[in-house]
Amino acid sequence: MNNPGFAASDSNSGNGSTNVALKLEDLQKDYFLKGETVHALNGVTFEVPEGDFLSIMGPSGSGKSTLLNLVGCLDRPTGGKLYMGPDDVSQMSDNQLSQIRATRIGFVFQSFNLIPQLTLVENIEVPLYYQGKLSRTSRKHCEEMADLVGLGDRLNHRPAQLSGGQQQRAAIARSLVNDPFFVLADEPTGNLDTKTTEEILHLFGDLNKAGKTIVMVTHEDEVAAFTRRVIRLRDGLMEFDRKNDSFGSAYGHGRADLTAPDQPTSPAATSPAATSPDSPAPPAAEEP
Ligand code: ADP
Ligand code: MG
Repeated sequence: MNNPGFAASDSNSGNGSTNVALKLEDLQKDYFLKGETVHALNGVTFEVPEGDFLSIMGPSGSGKSTLLNLVGCLDRPTGGKLYMGPDDVSQMSDNQLSQIRATRIGFVFQSFNLIPQLTLVENIEVPLYYQGKLSRTSRKHCEEMADLVGLGDRLNHRPAQLSGGQQQRAAIARSLVNDPFFVLADEPTGNLDTKTTEEILHLFGDLNKAGKTIVMVTHEDEVAAFTRRVIRLRDGLMEFDRKNDSFGSAYGHGRADLTAPDQPTSPAATSPAATSPDSPAPPAAEEP
């Protein structure tokens, strides 16, 4: 089902069964704005094994979206290396990066980024449209994706006729249409209420169980509690990288407490995200 295209020999932790899906080595990103340099990422190093379900946390401005955009090949690092399997994507051409975005990566954004004029099933087709892959069979495939996220009976609804949670489900279906290896989500529950947030997190959990490697940016401890592992950024540096020992219990009644006793969570990290200035517009996000 997956589409790794990665060398099988790249294993970690000595048990030989887990491949490294992503490797960040001293990853840096500077932005140049009106003569000023913003050091958004200052050298971040970690690995993501295949099948991981990782949240990236940190206060506003700590570099979370920058990191996700680099991993999603939407932008290029200023320094350091970024490997996808054995491939160093920091050295790739624009065409190669487009190819990776189109075949290996599904994106989900806080503001859903559905196209208002299109129906639900047409929205799911958008990535295929941009790749010239629309065909007689693709409509059926998109209907199956809608079914997978529980929206099989809403195919001809337009986004405005759907609830926020349904819109995010549609966006998740769209992200899956190319059977990507990675699902990358930037504050995917930032615009949703608590109950809908849980539903969406359960959906991500199911996708992860089905084999997708998921990297999710979030401000909220309650959201991160649903993931296997939490990395926290501060000022473009990694503050901690922690396995979530309670992973799984979040799917029952209890929630994991990820607040480090020695690292109190700042108010900025727990307040809900208000806006999503960093989410690209839909065609830009989905375009190869
Ligand atoms: P987060 O997602 O954690 O809120 P970002 O990755 O969006 O943080 O931003 C990290 C830093 O980089 C911030 O200081 C932000 O202002 C800056 N930044 C992000 N994108 C740009 C850009 N396109 N141009 C200039 N500065 C940027
Ligand atoms: Mg952000």
